Amino acid sequence: MSQENQILVVGSVAYDDVETPFGAVKRVLGGTTLYFSAAASLFAPVRVVSVVGRDFPLDQIRFLEDRGVDFAGLQVTEGETFYWGGRYDYDLNSTETLFTKLGVYESFHPTMPEGYAESPFVFLANIQPDLQREVLQQCRNPRISVMDTMNLWINTQREGVVETMRLVDMVSINESEVRLFAGTSSVVKGARQILDLGPRAVLVKKGEYGCVMITRDDYFVAPAFPVEDVFDPTGAGDSFAGGFMGYLARTGDLTAAGMRRAVIYGSAVASFTVERFSLDRLRDLTREELDRRVGEFRRLVQFEEEVIEAAQRK
Ligand code: AMP
Repeated sequence: MSQENQILVVGSVAYDDVETPFGAVKRVLGGTTLYFSAAASLFAPVRVVSVVGRDFPLDQIRFLEDRGVDFAGLQVTEGETFYWGGRYDYDLNSTETLFTKLGVYESFHPTMPEGYAESPFVFLANIQPDLQREVLQQCRNPRISVMDTMNLWINTQREGVVETMRLVDMVSINESEVRLFAGTSSVVKGARQILDLGPRAVLVKKGEYGCVMITRDDYFVAPAFPVEDVFDPTGAGDSFAGGFMGYLARTGDLTAAGMRRAVIYGSAVASFTVERFSLDRLRDLTREELDRRVGEFRRLVQFEEEVIEAAQRK
């Protein structure tokens, strides 16, 4: 199989309990890896490195296999599948974690099936930072590696988070987590601290306010699509990353302009994810719907410079 556009992801496959002001669901399909794969597989083949317990209904992820997601790296072991509970208030921008049961992740050591190590695009989805490194160190010279993380690991395994940051090309992180990590209220300063560790770009996710991509010499702002009925923000970040990396893998274009386009594709996928609970909206999302929304994104931010100049001349 051609290795050119293969994406490797390591992260959680989970059961989620989610409460939002609009409803609550229990033990639904979740986990950073599944959201990422559902998004990225719209563009390129995805390989999953993860673990579940024997309680996990594998038939529920068949729709992803049908879309080109390879689960040969998904271990099934004794113990319980990762289980996470979260709640969102009316301000859907901040997640309150109610519980995190690591289950089979407590003793997980990733193994890489044949060919996985040569994947050119590597995404270290949110999971213990030491596991992220265990996977990255087995990869042979990826074209691009991106990591995500969260407040839990910044608070409990900060050194591990820093070590992983030192090894990757890009970091995808929430606005509040940049502040927590860097100990500053300025997101720009915080992102610079991360860039100083080595990555060449930081993708700062700002929930309903969109996302910014900060590099040493570029600052790109993408709005979030104005979705009127945000139902459940879970997975927005991971599906953003999936759209972003999927687009990069599909085009192979790692220039600044290509990365800007990838940010818009990521934002477009995330805007669909939040319309329903769990992976329900991503399940049947098509490239055509996505491309149409990318067109709407363009209209959101377009303005005519000449009109302003003409007004000034009057
Ligand atoms: P997000 O895209 O940030 O909304 O991520 C949502 C997903 O992250 C949920 O489906 C959870 O199962 C998963 N998750 C939450 N906490 C953790 C954690 N500590 N490690 C790995 N995955 C997690």
